[in-house]
Amino acid sequence: MDYMYHVGLHRSLFQKIFMSYDIACQWGIHFKTRMATKFPGDWSVNNGTTTVKMLVPKFHLPAHVEKCQCDFSFNYTKHVGRTDGEAPEGGWSKINGLVASAREMGPGSRHDLLEGHMGDSNWKKVVGMSLHFIFILHHGIAQSEFQVCPYCRRLRRRYPNRPNIHIT
Ligand SMILES: [Zn+2]
Repeated sequence: MDYMYHVGLHRSLFQKIFMSYDIACQWGIHFKTRMATKFPGDWSVNNGTTTVKMLVPKFHLPAHVEKCQCDFSFNYTKHVGRTDGEAPEGGWSKINGLVASAREMGPGSRHDLLEGHMGDSNWKKVVGMSLHFIFILHHGIAQSEFQVCPYCRRLRRRYPNRPNIHIT
């Protein structure tokens, strides 16, 4: 885990890094010490200007003690929105089929392969959002039929063939 983290972020210019890991409460205890002693100096992520905040994904957090649920919660952390911390794992199943090919490749080819497939997955996710939003809009309009005010309901009964009567 340490190695993966450092390889991924050691040249990062981010000012804040939120690290999501199932046992971040344990793993993060000696994180700075390990970073300073186990890896080359130029691999350091925390160069004095970067802050690293450890968080536990929402699915795993209920299994932790109460102190963890406060200190490592996405819900109590600023600048993370409504992140659940589980999203990166969601893409793993989509790249399982690449294992046989990827393990035979060198680092550069493996990186290109994974980058291409994850980029494709992200593209499909973004394109799929439009259909999702259309579904939500359509469903919301259908639901609004049940929430029409009494005045509009009377108007609709009186003018059944007239569309676009005001809906509140
Ligand atoms: Zn914990």
